[in-house]
Amino acid sequence: MIVGVPKEIKNHEYRVGLTPPSVRELSSRGHQVLVQKNAGAEIGLSDEQYVAAGASIVDDATTIFARADMIVKVKEPQAVECAMLRDGQILYTYLHLAPDPEQTAALVKSGAVCIAYETITGAGGGLPLLAPMSEVAGRMAIQAGAAHLEKSKGGMGLLLGGVPGVAAGHVVIIGAGVVGTNALQMAIGTGARVTVLDKSIDRLRQLDLVFGNRISTQYSNAHAIEEAVLSADLVIGGVLVPGAAAPKLVTRAMIAKMKAGAVVVDVAIDQGGCFETSHATTHADPTYIVDGVVHYCVANMPGAVARTSTFALNNATIGHAVALAEKGWKKALGDDVHLKNGLNVCNGKVTYAAIAQALGYDY
Ligand code: NAD
Repeated sequence: MIVGVPKEIKNHEYRVGLTPPSVRELSSRGHQVLVQKNAGAEIGLSDEQYVAAGASIVDDATTIFARADMIVKVKEPQAVECAMLRDGQILYTYLHLAPDPEQTAALVKSGAVCIAYETITGAGGGLPLLAPMSEVAGRMAIQAGAAHLEKSKGGMGLLLGGVPGVAAGHVVIIGAGVVGTNALQMAIGTGARVTVLDKSIDRLRQLDLVFGNRISTQYSNAHAIEEAVLSADLVIGGVLVPGAAAPKLVTRAMIAKMKAGAVVVDVAIDQGGCFETSHATTHADPTYIVDGVVHYCVANMPGAVARTSTFALNNATIGHAVALAEKGWKKALGDDVHLKNGLNVCNGKVTYAAIAQALGYDY
């Protein structure tokens, strides 16, 4: 199979569909991999590294789309890319179609076989191609929060870990899933005092077994959230209710009563956010202040650490990419129900129930 990796063209997107190690997995099995010139240059992946892994470098995206049997990307295809897709060609990338009728219509029109990373399921449950980005965002949340506690960034001027003779800061994490657990690990590493809240008692039990008295676990309800948030220096929001907007767990009234110069990082902002005062921000201007509390609400946190994110994503995507290249899409999907769950649009039809329902397509 010919596999094509165009350079991402969405604004400020530096990730790349395949790393050189992933290219090697494909080229060593006899597949031809076409990588667009400078596709990974911004994150230290040179054309020379791609060539050494067995890729051929191609100057332009048009040639890649024209020649490849399968396109491997990171972000949803932009309009100009949708127009280059063709009947029967495989597109393997994040799509996020439900809120995007234009892209969905363009993919339907293309006749391509569109497999979305975000709906591929895992044998152990969950969404394994989304998890790496939650891991990145969870870990980054503490890094971003700690930086914004500094005076020059609007914070109260607090060092999370304290120093001998000065108390450590208090980090409160709401939601103990992938984001929350990764934030928790980083927060413990800083030496901060950590409280974690979740609705799932089983999840709190697991964390208690692993982290013991290094953390305090709390069943999540309005009372516990208010108590924790009012004593917090840094609050991380990492809740998810699948298929729904994030619940507004921290109210405007709670924010008003928080310490001046405290920081909230709303990782769940891509689902609307779990702080009543949240609105999405960008890496170029990541924070704003409400009632003296610094709000960091960047909707695509992993983009800031594009190199780490690219490798983390590739670890999760390459297995299915190899299966698709080796078997072709029909057999690969027939053999693996989890990969089949990733099929969103196929040969001019929407093939994923929730997307068809959301956008009014026959299913
Ligand atoms: P997850 O499903 O692994 O975890 C969510 C957790 O929230 C679960 O443990 C669940 O029990 C808990 N929860 C649900 N309702 C709650 C409540 N009322 N109180 C406390 N906890 C509650 O999800 P995840 O992978 O950790 O993702 C969390 C959010 O972060 C999602 O909205 C995801 O899209 C988002 N995210 C954002 C970025 C970004 O760049 N901003 C990056 C990755 C993920």
